[in-house]
Amino acid sequence: MIQLDKQYNPENVEERWIQFWDEKGLAKGDETRPGETFSMAIPPPNITGSLHIGHAFNNTLQDILARWKRMSGFSTLWQPGTDHAGIATQNVVERQLKAEGTNRHDIGREQFIERVWKWRDESGGTITKQLRRMGCTLDWERDRFTMDEGLSKAVREVFVTLYEQGLIYKGDYIINWCPRCHTALSDLEVEHEEKPGKLYHIRYKFKEGEGELVVATTRPETLLGDTAVAVNPDDDRHQAHHGKSVVLPLLNREIPIILDDYVDTEFGTGALKVTPAHDPNDFEIGKRHELPSINVMDIDARINAEGGPYKGQDRMEARDNIVKDLETAGLLVTIEDHVHKVGHCYRCRTVVEPYLSKQWFVKTKPLAEPAIEAVKSKRITITPQFWENTYFDWMENIRDWCISRQIWWGHQIPAWHCKQCDQFTVTREDPTACSGCGSKEITRETDVLDTWFSSALWPFSTLGWPDQTESLKKFYPTTVMCTGFDILFFWVARMIMMGLKFMDDIPFEHVYIHALIRDAEGAKMSKTKGNVIDPLVMMERYGTDALRFTLAAFAAQGRDIKLAEDRIDGYRNFCNKLWNASRFAFMNLEGYNGTCALEKSDNWTLADRWILSRLNATVHEVDRTLTQFKFNEAAHAIYKFIWNEFCDWYIELSKSRLLSDGPEKRIAQNVLIHVLEASLKLLHPFMPFITEEIWQKLPAEGDSIMIAPYPVPDLNATSAEAESRMNILMAVINGVRNIRGEMNLSPKQKLNVTVQCENPDTISEIEKSARYIKELARVEELHLGADKEKPKVAATFVDGNLQGHVDLEGLMDFEEEKKRLEKELKKIEKDFINISKKLSNPEFIKKAPPEVIEKDRKRQDSLSEKRAKLQTHLETIEQAISSLS
Ligand SMILES: [Zn+2]
Ligand SMILES: [Zn+2]
Repeated sequence: MIQLDKQYNPENVEERWIQFWDEKGLAKGDETRPGETFSMAIPPPNITGSLHIGHAFNNTLQDILARWKRMSGFSTLWQPGTDHAGIATQNVVERQLKAEGTNRHDIGREQFIERVWKWRDESGGTITKQLRRMGCTLDWERDRFTMDEGLSKAVREVFVTLYEQGLIYKGDYIINWCPRCHTALSDLEVEHEEKPGKLYHIRYKFKEGEGELVVATTRPETLLGDTAVAVNPDDDRHQAHHGKSVVLPLLNREIPIILDDYVDTEFGTGALKVTPAHDPNDFEIGKRHELPSINVMDIDARINAEGGPYKGQDRMEARDNIVKDLETAGLLVTIEDHVHKVGHCYRCRTVVEPYLSKQWFVKTKPLAEPAIEAVKSKRITITPQFWENTYFDWMENIRDWCISRQIWWGHQIPAWHCKQCDQFTVTREDPTACSGCGSKEITRETDVLDTWFSSALWPFSTLGWPDQTESLKKFYPTTVMCTGFDILFFWVARMIMMGLKFMDDIPFEHVYIHALIRDAEGAKMSKTKGNVIDPLVMMERYGTDALRFTLAAFAAQGRDIKLAEDRIDGYRNFCNKLWNASRFAFMNLEGYNGTCALEKSDNWTLADRWILSRLNATVHEVDRTLTQFKFNEAAHAIYKFIWNEFCDWYIELSKSRLLSDGPEKRIAQNVLIHVLEASLKLLHPFMPFITEEIWQKLPAEGDSIMIAPYPVPDLNATSAEAESRMNILMAVINGVRNIRGEMNLSPKQKLNVTVQCENPDTISEIEKSARYIKELARVEELHLGADKEKPKVAATFVDGNLQGHVDLEGLMDFEEEKKRLEKELKKIEKDFINISKKLSNPEFIKKAPPEVIEKDRKRQDSLSEKRAKLQTHLETIEQAISSLS
């Protein structure tokens, strides 16, 4: 006889199955296999990454899909890989260098890049190992890296093609500059935050005659780069000033007053200082009026030679000095407090400086149009659908994409500048001479590409593009892209643009955008707050299956998910429940020589027909919900079936047959083992380890549950008749059980029950199932019929048109019970009053955090519910006392 260990021990099990799946090559994507395909590319984690709860969540959902589709017979590929993560990785290695007392400039570009590769080879695989540990069935033999040879080739091909087609250009542009990271940041990489600041009102005296214009600015240091003051042509206050000029304070340069519609007449005096090199709007004004752009800062955001006496000062230091000097010169009118948005570098939190520089851009409009169309026409679906509008909004207002970064780690831009003719040579092979004039004096661009440039190619570059590979033919377009909404634009939108451009086809059919995981109170998880749930610790503590199932059960479609550790603990109990049920099954398989296949029988009991019907309904529900990416609903359906219906009811109802010796034993064994196997298969994508461990011991066909066929819905297996009959039976048993619990009756105490019902069919159903009721509810005498008299002293339950009475006479000391109930009621009453007082206090409502109020409200509700229940019991007891006296 096969036996399971007394307890399920994840640590003894998990590593074994990971190796087994690996050795058998079960996760391999096979392009030669006929039939429908299902493919997905992992959102490549950064090589600097270590598994956090967001990764665990995202990859659990993907693995559920991969395992489900693989079991459902699809030729499945889940493509693994990692991202070189430009700035993030460069920062890690730079910190190491700093600790060694050196820096990248001292060791030089070549050595620095060697250092990064070395770091990557030693430490960059952490997250890959952790994903394996989670049981993710990625095809590891296909592991790719955004800087590997093949992907670099893809990047080069895309860059050169776009350049040749005029979709990549180099131009003057006002960019977001991080003075710490020394790189341009795309608009998406700047995080804006409301901050208290100052608004400085400054006098610009007219060049000719008396008078002045007063302009307001939050960044007075930028006045060093002013090249005009603009007023609105319709502003009556300034009609007299058209065509005049003013003197730039402190530097005493003459600058013109220009007319531009952009100027807001409502803001201040209606005069705007224009600094084309340091403000994106001013940059546009400057272009319209052909104003010079004067860059007054160096790459560290220190004032350069253009700033005259302020040269060498940091921007903040210069700000203080300029304000002081303005005041001394009598040019400062006033300083106001002013809350305004300040942009920060998303990597290092340094305040970003709008900065004029030469950068490389992708012209995005022509790429965005087909990408919008692909979603509008539903060739690509986005779930949940509300993200579609966000996508359209952004794509319709898209700006050119700044793709150059002033760092060393990344794909170096394949453009060579010619000293002779000032042209660029952009080619697939490294050139030796200028393509314009033939000069050999060419030098390669030092900038590298934005990290997202290579990840935009991910769905096809990982499959071998630009080579026309079999993998590409078989697995492109991919089926699903599963990711968080924070990278919808950084990544998803760009993959759609690039896929359509270079593959002439969408990169994926469905985008599933999952919510972000927050702590139990809804706060963002962060190391400094100490509210982080570490998936590695959770796997250690509760087992990987419990963590995975929790994440799936919480995957409601929305923006936020509130997660608490006790939920993971709760789902560990689910593992234990399944384990114990399986143990029970194995102990009762003595002498069974069949398989897990269902053997049709005319002698199935009501319980057999009912559990088969429920199984089928669950299969149907899981199929429906997973198809719609409703992971939580699928998880709940499986949970409810296994825990409530299979373990709590079916196993209990089968016990007497399994203990018997007749032919009914064999039938019960077959149904039990069939339903157990189907349950394991249903659950496998969510809990791969425990299900494989149990399944391997079953008389099932095949090498692994991972490739066993997933249960399919079968409409013929539904039995409405069995379900409605079981519902009656369960209503009676539950009714008796509830009364036993609420009346504090011992579980051993046998009870006498009377069931009244006008419907003779119901009574006859109950009659047929009397044996079950007696066993499961521990009933001694069961009286059935509309005419049966209610016992003198009874507790009653009602279900539909059915009434059940549990005879209480002689079962307890009613006076004692009355005292107990009264005492308990008093205590509850007191708690209820206290909490109600608190909740009706407007001060409390105003000041308490919403989650605290919510918690108290729930408590108030539960107290009120409990009070009502106790009052009903008290009434029953009081009636009993009076009818006995
Ligand atoms: Zn930075
Ligand atoms: Zn040249």
